Parts: sequence; structure tokens; C-alpha cells
Amino acid sequence: MDQALKPIAEKVYAGERLSAEDGLTLLRSRDIWTIGELANHVRQKLHGKTAYYNVNRHINYSNICALSCKFCAFYRKRGQDGAYEDSVEKIVQEAGEAAKAGATELHIVGGLHPFLPFSYYTDMLSAIREAVPAIHIKAFTAVEVVHLARISKRPSDLAGVLSDLKGAGLGSLPGGGAEVFDDRVHDEAFKGKIRSDKWLDVHREAHKLGLMSNATMLYGHIESLEDRIHHFCLLREAQDEAIQNSTSGGGRFQTIIPLPFFPDESELEHLPGPSGLDNLRMLAVSRLMLDNFAHVKSFWIMQTLEMSQVSLDFGVDDLDGTVVWYDITKLNGADDPSGGTHQEVGVNELRKAIIEAGYDPVERDTVYRRVERDGADWRVGVESGVGV
Ligand code: SF4
Repeated sequence: MDQALKPIAEKVYAGERLSAEDGLTLLRSRDIWTIGELANHVRQKLHGKTAYYNVNRHINYSNICALSCKFCAFYRKRGQDGAYEDSVEKIVQEAGEAAKAGATELHIVGGLHPFLPFSYYTDMLSAIREAVPAIHIKAFTAVEVVHLARISKRPSDLAGVLSDLKGAGLGSLPGGGAEVFDDRVHDEAFKGKIRSDKWLDVHREAHKLGLMSNATMLYGHIESLEDRIHHFCLLREAQDEAIQNSTSGGGRFQTIIPLPFFPDESELEHLPGPSGLDNLRMLAVSRLMLDNFAHVKSFWIMQTLEMSQVSLDFGVDDLDGTVVWYDITKLNGADDPSGGTHQEVGVNELRKAIIEAGYDPVERDTVYRRVERDGADWRVGVESGVGV
């Protein structure tokens, strides 16, 4: 065992909160097995042998974006080859197909479209709500919410904008757009995007309205290990605050989703991107640092299903869903006949992967209630999910 991890292990077994310094020691250690063992200890305490998944559909309504973040291979400018924007009708049709296939959740995000009006977004939500009322709509990253506040000409009224979106059918916020909470990295890699304070403001306001949300970190590009730990600490503080307020019906962060950077087709293509070991370590350290987050997700689209199986022993309790179309990261790039956007795994395949790894697969809805399913028909079970 790496001796530097000894005092950290004592804290973990005593249920004590880790410091930023502890986090840094974990990220610097090459003793992946001890790190995994510690993360697994916390994971088992919270979730035992349960591993969650959901049946969902990702809808990326448009890739047209006013910004040009260096790490992003998704965005296009209007008129550029490959640029698209879906009509509300097309999105509702996709939502209907997803519902027919048994999805419990739609995950809807897109670029910061410079010309679509605010009504496009509220119309999209209310039309989906009307067509498929049972499906949960998790939509719009904090960056998009700030963009929507700007285009609806009330840049400082995040609460008002979120409230309109909620009124139209928004069920929760995804965790994207956080990238890495550091101003140097921000200015170099995604200048123009909101900074950490604004990202946290959006989630704070959403929580006040009773909306649940998730959080991400995009790592493995130009950030330092210190930046990663700083990111965790800011999220942990924000969650402490949310938990304190949640007694009066507020929401909170449910899940941390560490996202490895994919250099291909981005302006940072010369970088190697994180290794498998780095990915495992980040998932485990997320579990150890974010002691007030209930869930750690390995987003299999980016981590691969094989690594996600392994990650269940490294602090992860959620493998996300049966995602059908996902435009943001093209796993197989140009070699894939679908262009890499058709990424689907069936429920049986997901369950098999979880069982093979030694865990009990449990289907959840967006807010971690157990789902009872008979083919495409489903209902929320009596037992609800785990909180911290
Ligand atoms: S990361 Fe988001 S905001 Fe940045 S260019 Fe890509 S789509 Fe636009």
C-alpha cells in the first residue's frame, strides 16, 4: 500500500470528510488498488451491491452554437456542413418513439443557438409534456440556461427563466457544461462559456425551485490535478448548501459524472486525452471526495461499457442508460457507418454487464426511484432510491 494513503484510509473508514490535500494525494498516487478499495468501501455502504441504470433517450436538438470551445467537436456554425436544428415537431416525434420503446427519461441538450427564440424551448417542453406526459424531461445544461436567460432578455433573472422552463415541463437539469471550475482553464479552452460561479448559480436557483440536478467534470485536457480537486471542493460546498435548504422542498445534486476528454476532431486534438487508469482513478476519487453526493456515474458512452463494468468496483453505482442517439462524442468516429452517433445498448446487455461484474442491476427513473417494468410498460415501484 502507498504509505501516503494510510491517513486517508483511516479517515475513509472513520467516515470523515477528506481535505483538498487528501484529494490531491489520491490523484497523485499510483496505488490504484487501494484507491479503488477505499472508494468501494463508501460505495458498498451507500448502495451495497446495487448498480443503477435507466432507459433513456438523448436528444441533441441542434449543434449550431454561438461559441467555439476548443475541446468541442460537436458544434457547427449555421450553414456549415453538418449543422442542423430540429423542429419542435421532429423532437416530439422522437419523444413519442422513445416513450413507445419504454424510455422513462429524455435527456435534451444542444448548442447555444444564436437565433432560436425562447419560445422554441418552452414550446418544445410543453409539446413533449402533452404528447408523452409520463416521461421525465431532463434538459438544458447551466450554460444553455444562461443563454436562454440572455435571449429572453432577462440575463439576471435565472430564477424566472428556470421557473418558466419548469412550468413548461422541465423535470430536472443535467450536469453538463461545468467542464473544470478554473478561470485559467476557462479562458484558454472555453472562453465565452459561463464561469464556475454562474454554473453554480444556475444549479442553486434550480435547487431552490425544487429541481434535482447532476454535476460533471470534463477532465484530461489542459487542467491541473489541483484544478480537479478545486472543482470537487466547490461542488461539495454547493451540495452542503443545497442539503441544508432541501428540508423546505429544495432540490440537490444527485450524481457526479466525471467525463474524460476526447481530443478527436477538437482544437485540442494534439493532446492524448486521459488513460484508462486516469479514468478509474477519477471515478474513485469522485466517490471519496464528494461524500454528500448520493451517486457516481460512469457514462458508458465515454468510458466504454467494459471499463464501466470494472468501475463498479471503484466507487461507481450508476451506468446511465440505454442511450440511443448521442451526437456529442463520437466514440468510433469516422469508422462508424452511423458517424458514431448511434450508440445504443439494450437493457439485457446492460443488465448482463452489471451481473457479470457481480452487482444487482436496478432500473431507476431520473430521480432514482425504482422502476418496475413489463416490456415497454413501466411504473415507479414502491421502494425509492438512496439519498445521502
Ligand atoms: S461545448 Fe457547448 S458551448 Fe462550447 S462550442 Fe460546444 S456546444 Fe457550444
